[in-house]
Amino acid sequence: MDIHEYQAKEILSRFGVTVPRGGLAYSPEQASYRAQELGGDRWVVKAQIHSGGRGEAGGVKVCSSFAEVEEAASEMLGKRLITRQTGEAGKSVFRLYVEEAADIAREIYLGFVLDRKTERIMVVASASGGMEIEEISVSDPDSILRLIVEPAAGLQDFQARELAFGLGLDKALTAKAVKVFKGAYRAFRDLDATMVEINPLIVTGAGELVALDGKMSFDDNALFRRPEVSEMRDKSQEDPREAYAADRGLAYVGLDGNIGCMINGAGLAMATMDMIKLAGGEPANFLDIGGGASPERVLKAFRTVLMDDGIKVVLVNIFAGINRCDWVAEGVVQAYAQADIQIPVVVRLSGTNVEEGRAIIAESGLPIITADTLADAAEMSVQALAA
Ligand code: GDP
Ligand code: MN
Repeated sequence: MDIHEYQAKEILSRFGVTVPRGGLAYSPEQASYRAQELGGDRWVVKAQIHSGGRGEAGGVKVCSSFAEVEEAASEMLGKRLITRQTGEAGKSVFRLYVEEAADIAREIYLGFVLDRKTERIMVVASASGGMEIEEISVSDPDSILRLIVEPAAGLQDFQARELAFGLGLDKALTAKAVKVFKGAYRAFRDLDATMVEINPLIVTGAGELVALDGKMSFDDNALFRRPEVSEMRDKSQEDPREAYAADRGLAYVGLDGNIGCMINGAGLAMATMDMIKLAGGEPANFLDIGGGASPERVLKAFRTVLMDDGIKVVLVNIFAGINRCDWVAEGVVQAYAQADIQIPVVVRLSGTNVEEGRAIIAESGLPIITADTLADAAEMSVQALAA
């Protein structure tokens, strides 16, 4: 799960990282009011969306009057911001963060990620801040510093100091840098994060280290024990198909193709997507209905798949062990009764109660295309697409 910049900053600040003073705004009037509250003579209006790259997409504006703050806010609110990370669908701006503007002397990149190879938290830093890490790895790869944290010991002072020296920070800033690195590390560890990014971490003209941007992602499987994190969820920023599925306990990942998939078991779902590709088609989603799926659950899964306007065919592929083919067939028939299905549906059933399942489909009189094998099902789906 991702959270907004202002939320990440609130967390980081709790862990001892200095962040600019700021306030949230939902309207242009409120944005101007926030600026007046903050005082000073320069402010930054920042669109709160779950994406980086806002600066170059018009989602970050430095202003020097209340009128400018109000104008920037009214420009951003309600708009769909398309950044290099959002894809062409973009993300809608419903919240703004108004901050006191910072006086930037230097920009540093600081990130914490899970390194799968070493199975450890890895700290990534670069003196070339401000750019995305992907850009830095192309334009200035030698500037990237990496260090691995031993989980039993945590991030050690000597490691943090080494990082500060590596970044060429002034000696006077070492203690502050150690505090930032260790604070961000603790936030990652204590809250089951999967990513923390401060880009840029700046050195101000007055010689302070400040997190000018903040980004955090969390492990969905640990959210049950992090209520203070899970309440930060903002569904307006999520793929509506995935949010709908997640609320119903379905494992769903939206993709770009036009063949909707409803499958049991993650392995079979992956195999089916491969077979669709092999047959020349493109899957619209990954969906695992899980084991022991009742007709109601199958119906919910069907509705989830149908939420995608881009789909032209639905492929149901069930290899029932714990599942029951008759329950799946009933769920599919119910879906026809309750949802307006105008597109071809290909069903392949195999395993427990397969005869009963096939009978339910045959007796329903519905225009369901049936297949015997996975390869057939994939072929038929692609053919149905052309028909
Ligand atoms: P991102 O584009 O989504 O990563 O948003 P950031 O919060 O990183 O802002 C993008 C860029 O805007 C930063 O790299 C800065 O160059 C600039 N920026 C953000 N806040 C300030 C500020 O307070 N003062 C100044 N001068 N520039 C800022
Ligand atoms: Mn940034």
